[in-house]
Amino acid sequence: MKRAFVCVILLVMPVRSAAPTYAQRQAAASRLTENARVRAALDWFSHNLSWVNDTQVRLTEIPAPPFQEEARAAAVREILEGAGLSVHTDKIGNVTGELRGANENEIVLLSAHLDTVFPPGTNVKVHHDGNRMMAPGISDNGTGIAALVAIARTLQSARIKPQRTILFAGNVGEEGEGNLRGMRELVETYKSKLKAVVVLDGSGTDHVTTRALASRRLEATVTGPGGHSWSDFGMPNPINALIRGSVRFINTKVPSGPRTTFNIGQIEGGTSVNSVPYEAKIKVDIRSEDEEELMRLESALRDSIAAGVRDEMEPPRERSKGSLEWKVELLGSRPGGELSSDSPLLAALRAADEFIRNQSRMERSSTDANIPLSLGIDAISIGAGGMGGGAHSMQEWYEASGREAGLKRALLTVLGVSGVAEEKAR
Ligand SMILES: [Zn+2]
Repeated sequence: MKRAFVCVILLVMPVRSAAPTYAQRQAAASRLTENARVRAALDWFSHNLSWVNDTQVRLTEIPAPPFQEEARAAAVREILEGAGLSVHTDKIGNVTGELRGANENEIVLLSAHLDTVFPPGTNVKVHHDGNRMMAPGISDNGTGIAALVAIARTLQSARIKPQRTILFAGNVGEEGEGNLRGMRELVETYKSKLKAVVVLDGSGTDHVTTRALASRRLEATVTGPGGHSWSDFGMPNPINALIRGSVRFINTKVPSGPRTTFNIGQIEGGTSVNSVPYEAKIKVDIRSEDEEELMRLESALRDSIAAGVRDEMEPPRERSKGSLEWKVELLGSRPGGELSSDSPLLAALRAADEFIRNQSRMERSSTDANIPLSLGIDAISIGAGGMGGGAHSMQEWYEASGREAGLKRALLTVLGVSGVAEEKAR
């Protein structure tokens, strides 16, 4: 047994290399940044920062509520076309632009989500306050989309041909009930060729999301016959039952490690104050670092709602006037996953960080990167530079200071995994 074990290790070791050392990362980064075209691409950002800022404003001012990303997608498509890419809009509304590599069978995906959390009619006009741009969606994901198109343009202007094909995507459906449908579709389409995915989401250069937080969104509904508050008193009441069940659910114990959370985020039901309602609903978001805790919490929700309905049906009141029904449905689910610490994608990011003298904090979060990570495809989500805050609120803001470093970091990370094709000798 022991001998067999040793053999296995010996066989595995040469294939699975250890995390690259500082020196190896330095070497990789300097090979890339010594390339004259890559240097030209990096310089492009310094000369075009105002174009990037203006583009961010223009795209942020095109509303993109959930499931209504078409107008913004069309504007992004136009810029990607202008950058010389072969563009395509898929059946669910993702816009993609392809920069063909020497090896077209391998793809590096660079994506930024188009959608915002803001409903139609939200005022998305950008206001300037000193160095700050203010508007809902300006940072999440105005910054990411602006960086996406800027990187496409800089690669065109520097005439860089990557080794692997780089696929640029403005994708739909990242926020809320979009349920990552844009990224799911992209991964489904290109799965067998996808070698790495870099997601640009929001601002900053301080973090890299390498672990995908698993989450589920559920809707619990209780229904009954409904009636009059006075003459039908005693009839089982769906709101009462849902409240009874909800109280049981929110008393569920969750561990602090693995961190596990729940939130009742929406409640609705009833028609008037003097009617016994015929329906009541809650929407619940549950998250955990461990998928097993997620399953446990989901069954706790089902058990609690069932118990709430039972409690409501108990005497002493006359319950002959009908019964209650309940169901818990899945609105969305985001699978978990983790990037391996020896992944070439993480090495490329670290090398890019060294070039811009940055240090990234590794994070666990729920992003578009969940989908590729859950399938074992290397993926990260990073901010696209500058500073931002107030995401998902009407006070959202963005400041472009430090943006150039973020753009360079994203570009070098992508080129680090795509490679740059050797120029042919003339
Ligand atoms: Zn976002």
